[in-house]
Amino acid sequence: MNLEEKVKSEINCCINILSDFLEVKIKEKPRLSFAKRDLSGYNPKYKVISISEKDAGSGISYFEEISHFFRDYIFPQNEKNIKIDEFFGRLGESIGRNLVENTKFAYFFENEKPRNYSNKDFFKEECDLWLNFWSSNIENGEIKRNMFNNSKVKMGLITKFVYDVGNCLTNKDLDFKEIVKIVENYEKCSKGVGFELEFNDLVGKGKNFNELKDDLISCLERYKMNKNNYKKIINTYEKLKTFSNKNGENLRRMKKHIKRSRLVSKNRLEDLYCHLIGYTVAEQFIKNDTEFMEKAPIVFRQNNETIYNYYFLSDFMKPYYLIIINSVLRKFLEMREKKLFRHKI
Ligand SMILES: [Zn+2]
Repeated sequence: MNLEEKVKSEINCCINILSDFLEVKIKEKPRLSFAKRDLSGYNPKYKVISISEKDAGSGISYFEEISHFFRDYIFPQNEKNIKIDEFFGRLGESIGRNLVENTKFAYFFENEKPRNYSNKDFFKEECDLWLNFWSSNIENGEIKRNMFNNSKVKMGLITKFVYDVGNCLTNKDLDFKEIVKIVENYEKCSKGVGFELEFNDLVGKGKNFNELKDDLISCLERYKMNKNNYKKIINTYEKLKTFSNKNGENLRRMKKHIKRSRLVSKNRLEDLYCHLIGYTVAEQFIKNDTEFMEKAPIVFRQNNETIYNYYFLSDFMKPYYLIIINSVLRKFLEMREKKLFRHKI
């Protein structure tokens, strides 16, 4: 049996153990996937339990993902609530640990201590980690946005410059003075606008905008002295046009990228926060209720609202919410200091 087959057969054992415990006879087993990936997970849409290679043999991962499957099986919901899903994920770990204790499957948890998110120091650390991730995300977003806006202004000037020069060149009588005016105007406007993004790096080899612009001016100087240089002027102008088009395109691509990268981070942030809360509520339930094993099959059949009101709003969660409020306030003040928030709090 190779590792993949071994993992899949272990998961099937765990599914049977949990199915007996919860008294849920499943008509259709979830699909199993085992591969090199960052995280293990359960996909309710396709009913797939995915175990990452590094989680092979891990009772924590097996029972967490299988619990997600059972909760979803008993209580298929259109709208997912990550916090409550993760409550079941963490519950699954403890249920599994209890069920395989002193059986031939005890080895699933041999090398794994119970997770302890509800340890207040750990909870606070996790909370700060999550908040730091969130704030650095805003900070980076702000830096990127500033860079982008700055570059957009500069790019606008370049586009206008190329457009105006192009207009002059299509004129039959090339007016050298007109072009000099355009150059002067460009230089005046572009003062103080830093070229934040290295456009040349994006375009690849070739001259940068200022070099091309200087080329154009020296071509014009020569043209003024002897009118034979028109072809060179057009050549240089074409290079400027290519530069402007390519970088305009790059800028548009960058805008999409910035938008998308912030969206991904937003989901990731929500994910971190919901895991922290869901796991902690589950651990507090396990610690505070000696009958949690007897109650667990019932809890799996309760709706989200009941679970939220009863466990998430329980007194035992108060100290944790206070830690969150404290940490969030501290972070807000720190960010206001950095002027990342303009409004008062
Ligand atoms: Zn989970």
